Amino acid sequence: MLATLIGNLRGMVYRCRDDEHWTMEFVSDGCPELTGYEADELLLNGRVSYEALTFDADRSRVRERIRNALRAGRRFSVEYRIVCRDGTLKWVWETGIGVEGEGGARGRIEGFIQDISERKQAEESLQEAERRYRSIFENATEGIFQTSAEGRYLAVNPALARIYGYEAPEQLITSLSNIGAQLYVQPARREEFMRLARERGAVQGFISQVYRRNGDVIWIAENARAAFDADGAFSHFEGTVIDVSESRNYEEQLRYQASHDALTLLPNRALLHDRLTQAIAHARRYGGVVGVAFVDLDNFKMVNDTLGHDTGDALLKTMAERMSSCLRQSDTVARQGGDEFVLVLAGEPDVETLTATLERTRVCVAAPWSRQGRELHVTCSVGAAVFPRDGTDAVTLLKNADIAMYRAKNAGRNALRFFQWEMVRAAVHRLDTEQSLRRALKRGEFEVHYQPRLDLATGALIGMEALLRWRRRDGELVLPERLIPVAEETGLIVPIGEAVMRAACLFNRELARREGRPRLTVAVNLSLRQLHHPDFAGSVSRILEETGLEAGQLELEITESLVMHDVEHFVSMFEALATLGVHLSVDDFGTGYSSLSYLKRLPVDRLKIDRSFVRDITTDSNDAAIVRAVISLGHNLGIRVVAEGVENDEQLQFLRANHCDEGQGYHFGRPVPADRFVAEYEQPTAVAADGIR
Ligand code: C2E
Ligand code: CA
Ligand code: CA
Repeated sequence: MLATLIGNLRGMVYRCRDDEHWTMEFVSDGCPELTGYEADELLLNGRVSYEALTFDADRSRVRERIRNALRAGRRFSVEYRIVCRDGTLKWVWETGIGVEGEGGARGRIEGFIQDISERKQAEESLQEAERRYRSIFENATEGIFQTSAEGRYLAVNPALARIYGYEAPEQLITSLSNIGAQLYVQPARREEFMRLARERGAVQGFISQVYRRNGDVIWIAENARAAFDADGAFSHFEGTVIDVSESRNYEEQLRYQASHDALTLLPNRALLHDRLTQAIAHARRYGGVVGVAFVDLDNFKMVNDTLGHDTGDALLKTMAERMSSCLRQSDTVARQGGDEFVLVLAGEPDVETLTATLERTRVCVAAPWSRQGRELHVTCSVGAAVFPRDGTDAVTLLKNADIAMYRAKNAGRNALRFFQWEMVRAAVHRLDTEQSLRRALKRGEFEVHYQPRLDLATGALIGMEALLRWRRRDGELVLPERLIPVAEETGLIVPIGEAVMRAACLFNRELARREGRPRLTVAVNLSLRQLHHPDFAGSVSRILEETGLEAGQLELEITESLVMHDVEHFVSMFEALATLGVHLSVDDFGTGYSSLSYLKRLPVDRLKIDRSFVRDITTDSNDAAIVRAVISLGHNLGIRVVAEGVENDEQLQFLRANHCDEGQGYHFGRPVPADRFVAEYEQPTAVAADGIR
């Protein structure tokens, strides 16, 4: 029975010697199945020893294990590989115990060896699976965590440690003993998170703010679930975390951008309207006044045009800061656009304190400002309206503050003006002017007067400037300064300018028909609005065609500030006009720009020195130096130079001595209507007798 029992065991029962071969003295019937060898091949090392069967790499370990057990007189148990007869490796488990050999000195071992390949394989695939999951956990870009209900981390992956700014997972786990209090910016958020996870079993996309290790605040989104043990009791939370700060910040930025000015970071028009409406509602309920002030920087355009946009931007930022620093936290400084700001003062008890605050702000803005070693004085004009005195709604208050600001500008700038109802009448008057200008254009009330221009070397009349006049029905003659600004603002300058050009060309064509007279050039002044017309060059060429005037007899005058504005924009247009043969002159030269590079870009034929320099050339050495410099500049560039506003003989002598090419001014003749011009300049000697000897 014992023999069949042993024989039927799966595995091999054995008895061997404790020698270097593990010489087998008995093996059970399981031997061939286990090793592939027949029993007699193994017994007494007949063909192979058990030591030799043991896989090389495992041999010493097996021997040591058995030796230790024998020495201690204990049972041993060891797992290792054997090489079967067919060369395959097989995992086996062996257990045995040392026994006395029969009468011999050397010990014997009795034991049992079993095939455990299947179990080993299962274990290995389990380990493999474990390795795979661990790799996902270790290498995931999302943070992964398990936390206890008490708010401790049970496990976290490296990504979570990284997101929270820790060097390693262990550091994160040991640093935080109360996640809710230590990690969350709002601990209540963590409570909410746990409540949801418990109640619903899972939470998705839960957004909260947490502190990183260095104190930075970031936005995170969590997905998590509550985990339960086998008995259904809550055991822990587990889930993932991603850092959503970037998209979160982006959203906030978008929201911010929609309501703030990008340059100065001040509230923009939309937000201003909200704030003003709120302030009005508040004052309605609790009493008090609300001040609305329009602040417009004086000469900002000049700074921007002459010193560049970077300087302009820096100036706007500085002014924004200055205004904010003068007001309370509860007040609003908004950028309305360009160089216009709007202040809403909600905290002043009465108009007196409001006035004081605004005056202080105005003075603060006007303080000198230095940039790159240059000191600039930029003042501002402020117009204010007060709720409820000057209006009871946002729109009216803003409009009235704007009217008051215009008043401050007209009063010479650098001033504060409060709105008064009379101002509305002035605004209406401006509107009136516009209406009557339209009417005047329709009725043909505009005239063109002509002022002669002479060659200073020969004294010959060489041309004339066309100057606009408005002869009203009541006989009053309105000068350009009173009508050009309104015409420019309303766009009426475009048809008016075209009418002037047509009249000037027609007049010069008529003069050219007269026998024996030299050809004259007629100069026409241009406004920016006209130049912005996409087909300006086309309309000039059409007028020349209609009137039959030669292009070379027409000259267009543009002011410095007008071209420098956007030289690139005009280059091709002036090139086209130059190709036609039309001349180009720069008017009021010296009053505008500091950079003269545009002179190289544009086909300029003449520079007209502004009359403010000519006026004092004989008394002011600076003006004299400027005029000399302009003349030599022009000559170096091959451009003729014209002096404007020549009123007396001393000026004329100075200009001739310095080789100025041409002159214009009361000394030679005032602007006169066309018929008088013809009469006065009919005889070739007339002007010379009048002006130059
Ligand atoms: P501007 O182009 O500088 O024209 C010269 C101005 O100086 C004219 O004033 C003329 O009367 C004045 N003037 C001429 N000689 C003397 C002088 O010796 N002494 C003094 N003190 N002044 C002198 P006006 O006619 O009142 O024109 C003023 C400005 O209006 C012009 O300045 C020009 O910029 C503009 N303007 C005139 N007509 C037109 C026009 O048809 N279109 C456009 N866009 N602007 C025009
Ligand atoms: Ca002019
Ligand atoms: Ca001029």
